[in-house]
Amino acid sequence: MELQPIFSPPSSVGNACFRMRHQICMSMNHHMCKSDARNRVFLRLQSEYSFKISRGSIYCSNFSENNPTTPSISETTDAKVIYSVAPAMGHNKESHPECNSRVPAIMDALEKVELTSKFRGSEVIELQSLRPASVDDIASVHAKAYVSGLEKVMDQASEKGLIFIDGSGPTYATPTTFQESLLAAGAGTSLVDSVVAASKVSHNPPVGFALIRPPGHHAVPKGPMGFCVFGNVAIAARYAQRAHGLKRVFIIDFDVHHGNGTNDAFYDDPDIFFLSTHQDGSYPGTGKIDQVGRGAGEGATLNLPLPGGSGDIAMRTVFDEVIAPCAQRFKPDIILVSAGYDGHVLDPLASLQYTTGTYYMLASSIKQLAKDLCGGRCVFFLEGGYNLTSLSYSVADSFRAFLGEPSLAADFDDPAILYDEPSKMVKQAIQKIKHIHSL
Ligand SMILES: [Zn+2]
Repeated sequence: MELQPIFSPPSSVGNACFRMRHQICMSMNHHMCKSDARNRVFLRLQSEYSFKISRGSIYCSNFSENNPTTPSISETTDAKVIYSVAPAMGHNKESHPECNSRVPAIMDALEKVELTSKFRGSEVIELQSLRPASVDDIASVHAKAYVSGLEKVMDQASEKGLIFIDGSGPTYATPTTFQESLLAAGAGTSLVDSVVAASKVSHNPPVGFALIRPPGHHAVPKGPMGFCVFGNVAIAARYAQRAHGLKRVFIIDFDVHHGNGTNDAFYDDPDIFFLSTHQDGSYPGTGKIDQVGRGAGEGATLNLPLPGGSGDIAMRTVFDEVIAPCAQRFKPDIILVSAGYDGHVLDPLASLQYTTGTYYMLASSIKQLAKDLCGGRCVFFLEGGYNLTSLSYSVADSFRAFLGEPSLAADFDDPAILYDEPSKMVKQAIQKIKHIHSL
């Protein structure tokens, strides 16, 4: 399959994006790349960025000899969070919600509330010198023709500065997109290495968090989709199986949109359980409640569409009555999380009512689930989240959950903007999914 660039952006989600661009632009700061910077080599962008944000973190010289991206065992003994940063500064389109100010906004918030290694010493570790994913890693999920096709269209991206590679979203590419997408996927697999290594010497290994973009969960095996280039979480799932012999992978996707790409990659696979909660009727329209997997994989996909307006109460019930029992029955070897923060009540792209406190609860509960079920092996992957403030404070509160510290959500959340959740419809959806999956 040849990847065909699209040169006129269609609307759909794009319209919603553009409606909100004023709000997003107002939040953009000096991290924004100027257009001439697009032609810089991505590694240079990456290293400049890392230099700025990583004071106090671990450097290459401290890494174990076998794998240059994995901190040594002694370095992870006290760690409660280990994160990687791949902000894709060259992959950017002005006024697009999936822009290059997202990861820097998170890093700024983490610095501001003193949650980086500079303030936390060995409790919080940032991985350095990330290894880009190999083409074989990517091809464990995506068609090789797509991978080589994307590399080829980088020439056109260089010529034009920016091209569209998929109509939905739309999904754009710049001259650095291919390399930066490899780096994003590699930042995820590197964390899998670190968390697995730490779990061999500790019952309480650090939770991994890949602060990466472009996001991945809409990218289908044959190509890009919905702002996503490579399926970062899906690639990490295959990598965990292949590189570490972790056969059973449980993927939780709490992004407001259905993770259709991950869904499709493992639809007939009984060893990778994909569980997605998402807003009913939102992009891309897949993830109906009766989509449960196929063939040998039947029952290993769970899709729970939630009515618009669902919020903290709904998600707490879903966690207790659906996510936890489902994971307990599956008995995973590792839990991977598509962590989208666009279900936040302040997010411009959807209409759920999650709060910063909801994300704290999810982070804390999923960490505990991993501790109970799979030696604490758990890695979060950044997906959506387009209000830079709610995104960054929700990620920060997720870090607090991993550290076992109290939530500071009350300082950020404003209960006055919330309205009644559609509790009757939520209850019906939960009853139905429990019946379908015999929970
Ligand atoms: Zn999303």
